[in-house]
Amino acid sequence: MTELKLAASMSRLGTESAFVVLARAAELAAQGRDIINLGIGQPDFATPDHVVEAAVRALRDGAHGYTPANGTPDLRAAVAADLHRRHGTQVNPDHVVIVPGGKPTMFFAITMFGEAGAEIIYPDPGFPIYESLIRYSGATPVAMALREENGFGFSADEVLAQITPRTRLIIINSPANPTGGVTPKAEIDRLVAGLAAHPQVAILSDEIYSTMLYGGRSHTSLLSYPEIRDRLIVLDGWSKRYAMTGWRLGFAVWPEGLVDHATRLCVNDHSCVNAATQAAGIAALEGPQTAVEDMNAAFDARRQVIVDGLNAIPGVSCIDPGGAFYAFANISGTGLRAMEAQTLLLEHAGVATVAGTSFGAMGEGYLRLSYANSEDNIRAALQRITEVLEDRT
Ligand code: PLP
Repeated sequence: MTELKLAASMSRLGTESAFVVLARAAELAAQGRDIINLGIGQPDFATPDHVVEAAVRALRDGAHGYTPANGTPDLRAAVAADLHRRHGTQVNPDHVVIVPGGKPTMFFAITMFGEAGAEIIYPDPGFPIYESLIRYSGATPVAMALREENGFGFSADEVLAQITPRTRLIIINSPANPTGGVTPKAEIDRLVAGLAAHPQVAILSDEIYSTMLYGGRSHTSLLSYPEIRDRLIVLDGWSKRYAMTGWRLGFAVWPEGLVDHATRLCVNDHSCVNAATQAAGIAALEGPQTAVEDMNAAFDARRQVIVDGLNAIPGVSCIDPGGAFYAFANISGTGLRAMEAQTLLLEHAGVATVAGTSFGAMGEGYLRLSYANSEDNIRAALQRITEVLEDRT
């Protein structure tokens, strides 16, 4: 009998429940059940052809070896040019670090600042990996409440009031998972202004949904505030924007004082992102953006279908999500708790959704529905949800 003794930190590591829902949905589908998946957060589109071709070409041309740990110079230059086009800001390509997806930047930033005695402020409801990694690092997680009445954006005054001398890092995410909420520029202005009084606090801005905004909204990148550039980490990547979740490609812009630490973490962790994927990343940024525009137009149309449909269900309401591809439905009028609703809908309606509580305690009374699925499937799912909820009454 082995008696393995794991590090205590392992018992503090959480997970992402969307993957648990996905596994159960797959299990039910394997039993022959017809499951509509509104649980998973990935585009239901293929990666654009020219991007796939660039990777194939790179492999044929011999891109088989290691690249620099922080990414190829060409890809980092392409990222800097893309950020300039999108946000009008100058980014030094030497401050760009290419990583396998969006998550590694979270891991790096949180473990760089997190340790016992430190506090890290994170969004609740929010992407569950933030809290998981904060706990893993030994730091104390401090929840930034995101409320429906604020369109699920943060209140700068509330966040600033949560800062203590132990605060090391604030994590923000707009457009947001799981709510689709977009924090208004005025609130970001107030947060940045207030941070002048707290020079020890770093900011991790997760902008992975920054190209997915609807209804005339535009993205405010934290990169457009020069006064915080020396303590700002911006996380972004290809997964959502180019339907490339399985390729594992992301980047971050790091401040001068942290970029070498981030690169050293790459060397210790994964050496580099695979070379052909990096070539695909350049093709994505520099090639035609029509596939991205088409995807976003489809998401926008589905957004309207799902929001209208949810608001027509007795006991359910849903505010207009400004970005990403999630609707965060308030189900408190049904009398169901979030996890009960998730189970009921999956087991009895064959619709996979994710309980709001999977994203933090503030998610009680809510369900996340991803509209990265066809309009027909969304309409069918809404019909099934309506019927199952009616049957209960
Ligand atoms: N940040 C947010 C807010 C996300 O929702 C996700 C994925 O769902 C990620 C980061 C991670 O993206 P990736 O799959 O590229 O690691």
